[in-house]
Amino acid sequence: MWDLIAEQISQVTGHSLAGAEPRSISGGSINQAYAFSDSQQTYFVKLNQAARVAMFEAEALGLKEIAQTNTTRVPQPICWGTASGHSYLVLEWIDLGRGNPQTWEQMGQQLAALHQVQSQKGFGWHQDNTIGATPQINPWTSDWVAFFSQHRIGYQLQLAARRGGSFPQQKELLAAIPKLLNHQPQPALVHGDLWSGNAACSQSGEPVLLDPAVYYGDREVDLAMTELFGGFPQAFYQGYHQALALPEGYQQRKPLYNFYHILNHFNLFGGSYLAQAQGLIEQVLSLT
Ligand code: ADP
Repeated sequence: MWDLIAEQISQVTGHSLAGAEPRSISGGSINQAYAFSDSQQTYFVKLNQAARVAMFEAEALGLKEIAQTNTTRVPQPICWGTASGHSYLVLEWIDLGRGNPQTWEQMGQQLAALHQVQSQKGFGWHQDNTIGATPQINPWTSDWVAFFSQHRIGYQLQLAARRGGSFPQQKELLAAIPKLLNHQPQPALVHGDLWSGNAACSQSGEPVLLDPAVYYGDREVDLAMTELFGGFPQAFYQGYHQALALPEGYQQRKPLYNFYHILNHFNLFGGSYLAQAQGLIEQVLSLT
C-alpha cells in the first residue's frame, strides 16, 4: 500500500519518494494518521477503510475551497484514493508549534475574513461531506431555517433514533427553530468543525486550520463551536470582533448550534453525550 501511495505522490508532485517510511501519529479521532517521509520531504497521510474514499475526497475539496479564498492557511491536499483495501488522503506536511496571543488574534481575524466569503447559491455546498465520520448533507437551500432544521438537526435526530436515542421534546425543539433563527444570516463559508483540535499553528507562528467540514452557513456556527470544548484564547475573539461584529442574539442561538455537534457526538460515540444533548434541548427551549 505505501508503495502505491508513494507512487501517487511522486506522480503529482514530481518528487520521487524513494524508500519513504510511514510513522504513526496520534491525535486523530476518526482516521489513522502518519508522517510519510524520505530523507528530503514529509507528507501527512490519513488512512481509513476503502469505503471512506468519498469522505477523504470531500475533505480535500473542502481544504481547496478554503485555500482558494487566501484568507487562512490550511494544508494543501496532494492526492487521495484507494490502495490495498484502504482509502488515503495525502496532505502537505506542516510543522506545527505552539501559538502565542498574536497567532490567536490573527486566527480570529483570518476566520472573520473567511466568513466574509459568501455564496450566491444560498446555504449548502456543491457536495455532501462528513462531520467526524457522519454524513453532512449540503443541498443548496435558500432558507437558513429550512437548511439547519432539515439537513443539520433533523438529519442527526433521525440517526440518533436509529441508535436508540430519543428525545421527548424533539418536536418542540424543531418547532422552536424558526423563532430562534430569525436573524437572516448571509451564507458565509464556514470551517464547520472548529473545535480546538482543528485550530493549529505552524512553527513560525502562523495560524493553520485543519480538518474542515465546510459549507456555506451562518458564520455563528463556527464561533459557537469554538466555545464548545474548552474555548479558544481570548485573543482569538478579540481578533475576530475587531474585524467583524457579532449580530445581536448570538448567545441565544449558540446552544442550538452546538446541539448539532453534541448530537453528532452521540451518533459517533454514544454514552454520556445523550444526557448532554438532552440538557442542551432544555436550554434551547428555555431561550424561546
Ligand atoms: P482526524 O481526521 O482523524 O481527526 P486530523 O486531521 O485532526 O485527523 O489530524 C490529527 C492530528 O495530526 C492533528 O491534531 C494534528 O496535530 C496533526 N496534523 C493534522 N494535519 C497535519 C498536517 N498537514 N501536517 C502535520 N500535522 C498534521
